Amino acid sequence: MFRKKYLLDRKELVYKEYRLSLKQKLARLSIVLVVSVILAIGYGMVFKYLFGSPREKKLQSELDEIKYKYDLMAKDFETIDLKLATIATAEDNVYRPVFDMEKIPSSFRQSGYGGTKKYADLEGYENSDILIGATKKVDELLRRTYIQSRSFDDIIPVASDWKNKLDHIPYIRPVNVNIPLGEGLKFREKHPVLGTPRWHHGQDFTAPSGTDVFATGAGVVTRAGWSPFGFGNMVEIDHGYGFKTIYGHLRTVYVSAGQEVVRGDTLGLSGSTGISSGPHLHYEIHYNGMIKNPLYFFNDELTMEEYNEMISVLNSNSVDN
Ligand SMILES: [Zn+2]
Repeated sequence: MFRKKYLLDRKELVYKEYRLSLKQKLARLSIVLVVSVILAIGYGMVFKYLFGSPREKKLQSELDEIKYKYDLMAKDFETIDLKLATIATAEDNVYRPVFDMEKIPSSFRQSGYGGTKKYADLEGYENSDILIGATKKVDELLRRTYIQSRSFDDIIPVASDWKNKLDHIPYIRPVNVNIPLGEGLKFREKHPVLGTPRWHHGQDFTAPSGTDVFATGAGVVTRAGWSPFGFGNMVEIDHGYGFKTIYGHLRTVYVSAGQEVVRGDTLGLSGSTGISSGPHLHYEIHYNGMIKNPLYFFNDELTMEEYNEMISVLNSNSVDN
C-alpha cells in the first residue's frame, strides 16, 4: 500500500523510517472523511437536480397523469356546457313559447356560482389554477343543471295538460261546407231581417237545411234549446280553458244541457230558426268573455276526414305516462 518514507536524522546522520503519530493519522483521516462526505452530498444534489429522487419522479408522473386527465375532463365540461346551452335554447325558443310560458331570464341562468371565498382553501398550491378552474366549472354546471331541471318541473304539467287543451279548444269548422257566407267578425250596417244596424258576432256558413252541425272541440253543453237572443234553436258549449262556442238557427238539436261532447260530435241539424233570412249556421267563439274571430280557429286546408286522420296519427304516436 503506502510506501515507507525515510527522513535524515541530522544528529545521527542516518536515515530513519518516518512514522506518523496517531494524532496526525487521525487528522488526515478526518480530512479524507470530510472531503468524501462533501463530495457525496455534492454529487447527490447534482443528481437530484438533474434526475430527481425516485419518490419525486413518481409524484411528477402522477401529476402529469392528473393534468392529462384534467385536459380530457375539460373537454367533457365543454360538451356538457354545449348540451345544456342547447337544451336552454330549445326551452326558451320552443317549449316555453309553445306552452305560452314566460322565459327564464338569462341573468338568472348565468347568476353567481358561489363567490370567491368558496375557493380560498384551494389557493396557494403550484396547480391551484387547475383545481379552482375545475371546481368552479363543476359548480357552474351543477347550478345550470339544477335550474334546467326545476324549469322542466314547471313545463311537464303544462305540457301534459296541453294535449287535453288541444282536444278542447275550438279547432274545426262546425259544418262540412267550404265557403263561408260572411267574412268572420264584422259589423253589419243593416241586419238582413231586422233592417237595423247590428254588430255581427260570429261567422255564418251557408248550409242547406238539415246539414250536420259538429262540436268544434270537447266540452260540456251549457245551453240547448230555444234562444231568447234571436238565434232560434241554439247550442252553447263550454270547452274550458276560457272557451265557449255558440251554434244558432238550428232546425233540430240532438244534445241537452249538461251533456259532455267531444270534437266532431253532431250537435244537431242546421236550419233557419229564429231571426234568420235563410238556411245557414251562425257560429260564435268566445274566449274569456271576449268575442273572437272564428276564422282564426279552423284550418281551411283540412277536411273533416283529414282532421280525424291527423288526430288518429297524433294519438298513435303519443306516449301516455
Ligand atoms: Zn250570423
